[in-house]
Amino acid sequence: MSEANEAYSLFDDVCMAVDSAAAHMDIHPGLLEQIKACNAIFKFSFPIRNDDGTYQVLKGYRIQHSHHKLPVKGGIRYSSYVNEEEVKGLAALMTYKCALVNIPFGGAKGGVSIDPTKYNVSQLERITRRYTSELIKKNFIGPAIDVPAPDYGTGAREMSWIVDTFEAFNPNVINAKGCVTGKPLSQHGIDGRTEATGMGVFFGIREAVSVKEDMDALGLTTGLKGKKVIVQGLGNVGYHSAKYLSEAGALITGVAEYNGGIYDEDGIDVEALKAYQLENKGFKGYTKGEFIADAKSLLTYPCDILVPAALENQITGENASEIKAKIIGEAANGPVTQEAEKILAEKQVMIIPDMYLNAGGVTVSYFEWLKNLSRVSFGKLEKRYDMKKYDALLDSIENATGDRFTQGQRDIIVKGASERDLVVSGLEETMVTAYHEMNKTRKEKNIQSLRTAGFILALERIAVSYMDLGIFP
Ligand code: NAD
Repeated sequence: MSEANEAYSLFDDVCMAVDSAAAHMDIHPGLLEQIKACNAIFKFSFPIRNDDGTYQVLKGYRIQHSHHKLPVKGGIRYSSYVNEEEVKGLAALMTYKCALVNIPFGGAKGGVSIDPTKYNVSQLERITRRYTSELIKKNFIGPAIDVPAPDYGTGAREMSWIVDTFEAFNPNVINAKGCVTGKPLSQHGIDGRTEATGMGVFFGIREAVSVKEDMDALGLTTGLKGKKVIVQGLGNVGYHSAKYLSEAGALITGVAEYNGGIYDEDGIDVEALKAYQLENKGFKGYTKGEFIADAKSLLTYPCDILVPAALENQITGENASEIKAKIIGEAANGPVTQEAEKILAEKQVMIIPDMYLNAGGVTVSYFEWLKNLSRVSFGKLEKRYDMKKYDALLDSIENATGDRFTQGQRDIIVKGASERDLVVSGLEETMVTAYHEMNKTRKEKNIQSLRTAGFILALERIAVSYMDLGIFP
C-alpha cells in the first residue's frame, strides 16, 4: 500500500516489469498492448449517512484488468491510500499471478478510499452493502463475471455482507454463493483458506531449496532441514509460513515485528512466540532469545532464507547491500524495491517472487469458488466410499499374505480425504508445478531472475488465450 503520491503509478511499474519480460519473447506488439491494458475501469462515488445525521461521499473502484479468462478475480481493499493507479496495478498483478499458477481467472481488484479504523461496524456494513450494490448495478460482480475476495482492511465479515447483498438482488442465481470468496465456513467458505497463503509460501520455498543445481550455485545444501530462516511479520502469512517451515526442520532464528523482534540462533518455538505475541501484543519480555528493539535490523542478520511477510518496500536501496540471506522468499506483496533487486542480483541472491510465492491465497479461493458452483463440500460424496474400498483392499491383502497391518497403518491408508486434505493436496500440486515451470523458463531463457521468468510464463499463457479467443467481431 503506497501513501498517496500523485507521481507514482504502481500500474506503470507493473507494465515496466512486463516489458522487460517481453524483451525475452517473440510477442506481437499489438498483443502485448492488449495484455497490458486494463479492460474495464469502474470508479464511482456514493454517499453514506453518518450516525450524527451528516453525510460523506466516498470513492469506490472495481477494475478488471484482463478478460482473457472469466470470471476475473481479486480482492477488495479498504484504505485511505486506495487510488485508481494502485487498483489498476494490483488488478494487473492478479492477472499475471493467476496465469503463472494456472488458475483460470483474469485479474481484478477493487477498493474504497476509507480508513476502516475510523468507522464503526454498522457504518462498515452499510459501506460494504452499498459498494456491492453499485457493482451489481453495473454488472461488475457475479460468479461468472467478477469474484472479489478480502484484501487490506476487509475480511470474512465483509465477504458475508457482500454475498448476502448479492443474493438479495439475485434470488434466482443458483451459484450466487460463488460471487465472492474468503467467506466464513458458515457462509460456504472453505476449510484451509486461513492458512493457505503461508502454506503456499512453505511449499514454494521447499521446492526452491530442493533443486541441487540452484543450491550449489548459492553455496547451500538442498532441503529445509537446518536452514536458518528470518521472518518479518508474525501475522497470518508470516506465522503460517514460519510454522510450516519449522515443522519441516528449518530453524526460525529471527522474527521481526513492527514493535520489536526476537533473535535466537538455536531456533525459535513459533507456537510459543505466537501465543506470547497474542497475549502481550508484542515480543517484549519473551524470555527465550534476544529481544531486538530495532526489528528492521533483523533483515540484515545472518541467515539462509529471509521471508518478508509484512509490508511492501522493506528491502530497499538502503539495506539491500547488507542482506546476508542467500534466498529471499517474498511472502508479502512488493517487499523488495526495484533498486534493491538490482543490488541483490549483483550479490547473486535468489528472490522467489511474490506473484508466485503468495499465490496460495488465490489458489484456495479458486477451490472455494469451485465448491460454491458444485454446492457440495469437497470429499463429502466419496469419503466413506473410499474408506470402505480401502478397508476391503487391506482385508484382501491380509487374507492373501497372512500378515496383519497395524491399526496405525490401517488408519493412514483407510482414511478418506476431508475437504481440508483435498485443499492442501490441490494447493501443493499448484505450488510445486508452478515453481518448476517458472524455474525451467528461467533456465531456458538463460536469465537470472525468477520474477522475469514468472512474467514470461504468465505472458505466454495469456497470449495463447487471447490468440485462441480471436477478436470479436
Ligand atoms: P497481517 O495483518 O495478518 O500480518 C501482517 C503482520 O506484519 C502483522 O503481525 C503486523 O504487526 C506485522 N507488521 C506490520 N508492520 C510491520 C513492520 N514494519 N515490521 C515488521 N512487522 C510488521 O497480514 P497478512 O495477511 O499476513 O499479509 C501480509 C502480507 O502478505 C501483505 O503484504 C499481504 O498483501 C500479503 N498477502 C497476504 C495474503 C493473505 O492471504 N493473507 C495473500 C497474498 C499476499
